[in-house]
Amino acid sequence: MNVATAPRIAVFGSVNMDLVAYVATAPGSGQTVTGTEFRQVPGGKGANQAIAAARAGGDVSFLGAVGDDAFGTQLRSTLVESGIEVSGLRTEAGASGVAHIVVESDGANSIIVIPGANGRVTDVGDDDVRLIRGSAALLLQLELPLPAVTAAARAAREVGVPTVLTPAPVQELPDELLDAVDLLVANQHEAAAIAGQSDPSRALAPLLERVPEAVVTLGADGAVHGRRGEDPVRVPARPVTAIDTIAAGDTFCGALAVARAEGRSAEAALRFASEAAALSVQRYGASLSMPERAEIERVRT
Ligand code: ADP
Repeated sequence: MNVATAPRIAVFGSVNMDLVAYVATAPGSGQTVTGTEFRQVPGGKGANQAIAAARAGGDVSFLGAVGDDAFGTQLRSTLVESGIEVSGLRTEAGASGVAHIVVESDGANSIIVIPGANGRVTDVGDDDVRLIRGSAALLLQLELPLPAVTAAARAAREVGVPTVLTPAPVQELPDELLDAVDLLVANQHEAAAIAGQSDPSRALAPLLERVPEAVVTLGADGAVHGRRGEDPVRVPARPVTAIDTIAAGDTFCGALAVARAEGRSAEAALRFASEAAALSVQRYGASLSMPERAEIERVRT
């Protein structure tokens, strides 16, 4: 794609270093076990969505914070090497965010996230708003403190930039935030929790009482889009052999934002996002697995 026509996407979110230990069985309290492998991979939902959007063809700005430690330097470089504009990435005194992830041989995982610098992002400043202004969309998740996410959504609304919220990790969402959300992109667990509805297939209608537009992703069953007053549109996932579904939702969301910013219909944008996510689940590593635009387009033709 011609870079001059790439849609501008701003992401205000988390960036972590994922420290992943692979082990047959996770240790219990007081136990020490020997693992089989260790990987250090840049992560955080904000950074993952930013990388996904950049690979899908977006001109992406990342807003957030790293610490003044070695991880901070590495995380910043990763974003830059992914072609992401980082003038809105602050360096805060102290540690960067880290996620300690233990993956067992049956694929089960347990994660401890220590927010570090992410937790010290408490507001949006004038410089942030300058970067958000003029973007085709602002992508938000819930790994930064809620007051900061809310302030960013409201600032975007004020300057006329559509907001896309991934409500993860799932939590109670104040009206003050949801009133400034244009599109909610939730997996079925998040959708059910926010809608107060244990059956995910019935979650779309109550979600649309709180936001004008929503997408619920359904894992291997695809995704469904709803807009107030319109019939829902459902797109199946391509049948593939999934080996690692970590960050499938972030890949989907980043690609979806790009496709929508290009003016594609709801159904076409959903198909583009589904193809991106289907490619990512066939490879290991969250950000490492995200496809380039040419790969996504190749599958679709
Ligand atoms: P999350 O990763 O947030 O839990 P989902 O599991 O719903 O979200 O996955 C997001 C999207 O990734 C799905 O809508 C689908 O397009 C794609 N996806 C996930 N799992 C698979 C799979 N096993 N096969 C094909 N596509 C998948």
